[in-house]
Amino acid sequence: MRCAPSVTPHDFELDALREKYRHERDKRLRREGTAQYVHVTTDMPDFWEADPYSPPVVRDPVAADIDVAIIGGGFAGLLAGAYLKKAGVEDVRIIEMGGDFGGAWYWNRYPGIQCDNESYCYIPMLEELDYMPSRRFVDGVEIYGHCRNMGEHFGLYEGALFGTMIRSMIWEEGTRRWTIRTNQDDELRARFVIMATGPWSKPKLPGIPGLASFSGHMFHSARWDYGYTGGGPGDPVLDRLADKRVAVIGTGATAIQIVPILGQYAKHLTVFQRTPSAVDHRRNDPTDPEWAASLKPGWQRERQENFYVFSGEPFPSKAAEEDQTCDFFTEVGRNVSGRVAAAGRELSIEELVAIREEEDYATMERIRRRTDEIVKNPETAEALKPYYRYMCKRPCSSNDYLPAFNRPNVTLVDVSASKGVERVTEKGLVANGKDYEVDCIIFASGFEISAQDQKVASGIEAIDGRGGLSLYDHWSEGYRTLHGMSSHGFPGLFFTGFTQGGLSTSVTAMYEQQGEHIAYIIAETMKRGATTVEATQEAQDQWVSTIRELAPPDTFLQECTPGYYNNEGGGHGGIRAAVGEPYAPGFYKFGDLIAQWRDRNDLNGMTLIP
Ligand code: NDP
Repeated sequence: MRCAPSVTPHDFELDALREKYRHERDKRLRREGTAQYVHVTTDMPDFWEADPYSPPVVRDPVAADIDVAIIGGGFAGLLAGAYLKKAGVEDVRIIEMGGDFGGAWYWNRYPGIQCDNESYCYIPMLEELDYMPSRRFVDGVEIYGHCRNMGEHFGLYEGALFGTMIRSMIWEEGTRRWTIRTNQDDELRARFVIMATGPWSKPKLPGIPGLASFSGHMFHSARWDYGYTGGGPGDPVLDRLADKRVAVIGTGATAIQIVPILGQYAKHLTVFQRTPSAVDHRRNDPTDPEWAASLKPGWQRERQENFYVFSGEPFPSKAAEEDQTCDFFTEVGRNVSGRVAAAGRELSIEELVAIREEEDYATMERIRRRTDEIVKNPETAEALKPYYRYMCKRPCSSNDYLPAFNRPNVTLVDVSASKGVERVTEKGLVANGKDYEVDCIIFASGFEISAQDQKVASGIEAIDGRGGLSLYDHWSEGYRTLHGMSSHGFPGLFFTGFTQGGLSTSVTAMYEQQGEHIAYIIAETMKRGATTVEATQEAQDQWVSTIRELAPPDTFLQECTPGYYNNEGGGHGGIRAAVGEPYAPGFYKFGDLIAQWRDRNDLNGMTLIP
């Protein structure tokens, strides 16, 4: 399908909107920043550790020497495992707190869950597993199924430990291995450990005074209580809510998907909104078999790169009509590309920046006007309009979210003026000085993504490297890595996710890039007869300098309305941004850099440990 630039309104006052954006941002800024949230602790098992989807795992403790332990069985862990197996490394154990593989897709089984990045890009290894998603944005159940298929296909179920949480990981100089202790009293001694815990793994709760005083039912969206609501994963008939008054706190990407279904089944639904999401139409067509049959080998990687160009590059290097994804995620990039082509001459950086800004405002204005067209009550429609720049928050699409607010049993409560819900009481919530009595509170309040304290985010009590150096201390002033994947003083330990590497708008592409690279290093270390491998101090220092020297100023995020993308308003100013400290030249440039590093085949900047 050829994709043209979208039709967006340009009849707005840019300066007035800039001022409005600033006002909306300042209104929501909280002095406490990320510290406003309630961290879930081990004495709150229903919000984190207790698994509502699988029976508790009862087994004897495992004591074993192994080659590779992978912490986490979501896409990051599965991709690392897959590449290890492809590289001939057989002794791999995935340790996963859930009852199965899937990670975010295991835990998030809320009604309405769907991929909101196009499935053809997001679901990894489609060609290798000979799998074609059923539609553009598939249901969570289908993605969970794909995770399980990956586990089967690469033999990763063998040796996997489910229902198991890591308590500590300690480097032992004598054995040159990591001793991993778990909640099941396992003691694994691994030459290599890959951290694949993922940024979306630990739920967080909103910092609302009085949470513990509520006498009704409460749960987090990532631990859906189907026993209470009725229905089940993939069966969103929430018939037990017919006599229930339900509150949802949060209006991020998760809430966009659950609100329409709750609105359909609850006696009454009250949605407490601090900042609205930008919600576009969702074109969720079934996969066209003719199109699928026409795809040539290598199509997925090409599509992922194309998606990155339009969603990740500020000034896309391709012509607008080449945008293969052609949706809200790529719209601003596509429109910028169209404007650049129409100019018919080389544009200065100032001109490019001005075009980007105008197209950003125009797209968001289109979204705001769409809200007016759908939501009947003008006051509700106004409250649902996002006044911030595109990508300050996750772009969303849904055909059912905005219409849900036309239902008589659905109420939107705008809590932006008080920077959040004021209070929880025994019977419900207080917002804007008004009491809302409810039977159930559902927290769609997100995850510990930008927690400054990594111990809180990981839930692992100790990760101690050489000489007892804690990784949490080592990184207390910011990341220190080689290529974002290893750190001096932590032999054989590898990281995935948002650290100091390439940043893709599709996280699975990022995990695949990292999995391939880490598997190469491990396989190469084993081939050379060493026990393990470690980044040198010098290589690490050099990489940290490279990352920081290339980093652009982060004014864009500073000016964004608060959220996890910008450390609740701090921009990258905190020690850790939600997206780590990305390699500024871009995701595929980083991919080229590490591929060239591998091609030299000299493990430059790493020391083999006999
Ligand atoms: P978010 O962190 O995006 O949203 C949390 C919500 O809770 C926000 O609306 C926030 O408001 C609100 N909130 C927090 N504290 C308070 C308070 N005190 N009072 C009122 N409201 C409050 O979490 P989500 O789970 O929605 O999404 C997290 C990420 O997970 C997404 O960005 C996306 O990357 C991923 N995701 C992917 C999906 C997919 O592919 N299918 C689907 C869903 C999520 P405010 O914005 O003002 O901070």
